[in-house]
Amino acid sequence: MSQPTPGFVTVDSALLEELQTLVGYDQVISTQAEVETLSKDCYWYSPVLKARLEPRNASAVVKVGSVQELKRVLALAYRHELPVTVRGGATGNYGQCIPLSGGLVIDITGLDQIIGIEDGVVTTEPGVRVINLERAVRAVGWEMRCLPSTWVKSTIGGFISGGSAGIGSITWGGLREPGTIKRLKLLTMEAEPREIVLEESETLRAFHAYGTNGVIIELQLRLAPARRWDQIVVTGPDWEEVTAFARCVAYDDAIPKRLMSLLEPSFGASFKPLRKWLPEGHAFIWLEVDQSFTEAVVGEARLKGLHVPLVIPHHEPKRQPMLMEYGWNHSTLWMLKSHPGHTYLQLGMGPNFAEQAAQLQARFPGQIHLHFEFVRGHHPTGEFGLVIPVLIPVVEFVSEDHLREVIAYAAELGISSSNPHTCYLEEGGRGNGSAAQVSLKQEADPKGLLNPGKMKGFPVAPALASSLPRFLYG
Ligand SMILES: Cc1cc2nc3c(=O)[nH]c(=O)nc-3n(C[C@H](O)[C@H](O)[C@H](O)COP(=O)(O)OP(=O)(O)OC[C@H]3O[C@@H](n4cnc5c(N)ncnc54)[C@H](O)[C@@H]3O)c2cc1C
Repeated sequence: MSQPTPGFVTVDSALLEELQTLVGYDQVISTQAEVETLSKDCYWYSPVLKARLEPRNASAVVKVGSVQELKRVLALAYRHELPVTVRGGATGNYGQCIPLSGGLVIDITGLDQIIGIEDGVVTTEPGVRVINLERAVRAVGWEMRCLPSTWVKSTIGGFISGGSAGIGSITWGGLREPGTIKRLKLLTMEAEPREIVLEESETLRAFHAYGTNGVIIELQLRLAPARRWDQIVVTGPDWEEVTAFARCVAYDDAIPKRLMSLLEPSFGASFKPLRKWLPEGHAFIWLEVDQSFTEAVVGEARLKGLHVPLVIPHHEPKRQPMLMEYGWNHSTLWMLKSHPGHTYLQLGMGPNFAEQAAQLQARFPGQIHLHFEFVRGHHPTGEFGLVIPVLIPVVEFVSEDHLREVIAYAAELGISSSNPHTCYLEEGGRGNGSAAQVSLKQEADPKGLLNPGKMKGFPVAPALASSLPRFLYG
């Protein structure tokens, strides 16, 4: 059994036996090394979180294989006031599935049934890996509206509870945009866990809530008609020319696209498997465009004097190299591997994104490497449709105060920030920890046992208070 850490809620041997009776001997893990591994996610992207969350572990891990088992485990946890943190693929970056006060981690990857695909809607259990969901819906003529670059490891429940946007968002917007999530079914954390069903805009009460206000057991997501996506790499030695081309493609709604990443030359050497196609000193763009537009896009790039070193025709299933695994936070991952002492930020830019980024770099010379993604969002009038650049810069890590300084200066330039250096819901970005999310927690988790401490707007149960860290960012 893992060693109790002072203040943490431990699962004693009697409770372990009860759990083993509920789910089977092999499905309960209590050896320290394994529990520690299964208590962690990709929080180490942030040196701030790495230092703070490293000692945080569960006391035991339970793997559930059915909703009935999950219900029984939640009921037991409620009865014994055990904190519960749900774990999917554990690719979250903000310590989302790191338990702050010990207790149980529940691994839900065993809930992996795709229930049905009908009329452009998929109904699925939460533990299905996104790659398997995408493959299943493509097999019948549809595709996911949005995929994380971690699609191989991520579960769909984890993506909805912890993710925000990704491949496809340049057309469909972030996951929170109306229509994408049709329905969520959750289990409450009560003596007898109940099912709560949220429809359409009500689903935002549980969306991106880090599993603090219910455990998602079923999702309905709207799909898009499948397209054949070619992948294109465009490069050029002049940052401004490459950016200008990216801007044209991003804002041209006539070109159906799923991915467009724009990166500075400094990223090139880090993408080892792609390096032979990335001339030194060149900035570059990853594109996924509908096959029928490839010729036009490639022609236009060449006309502008840019290089097109690689075109990967659509192939089913996708095979390496896949540009999507070098975009979004995968660009950050490749870069962090070769740039120790760096971290990242997530910044929402304006239409003058290139100028804003240049000002940031001028204020922090040599410390900020530019990587943009493009997400469809809202016009100032509120109407959906405007493509908005998102900057996911790799930043030299000097200190926590320095990160604050960069964020504060960005704010002066009119740049918003979704802070990835906090594990608190409310500090991470728009809509997180809203009143609607807190009210769902009151209804679904009256004792505050689900991922305790992550939602600052909900009082922590007195029994858990001593175990929670005393750090706050900002
Ligand atoms: C290299 C890299 C690239 C990434 N790229 C993207 C990207 O393109 N887009 C993006 O949005 N994010 C991205 N992320 C973040 C992360 O991959 C997504 O948030 C992801 O999809 C999470 O899925 P998961 O199964 O790993 O969730 P986990 O990390 O297991 O869980 C995430 C959160 O959801 C909760 N949770 C999990 N399952 C449930 C459930 N059934 N009910 C209630 N709560 C639940 C967990 O408790 C946790 O709080 C990236 C991360 C990395 C490391």
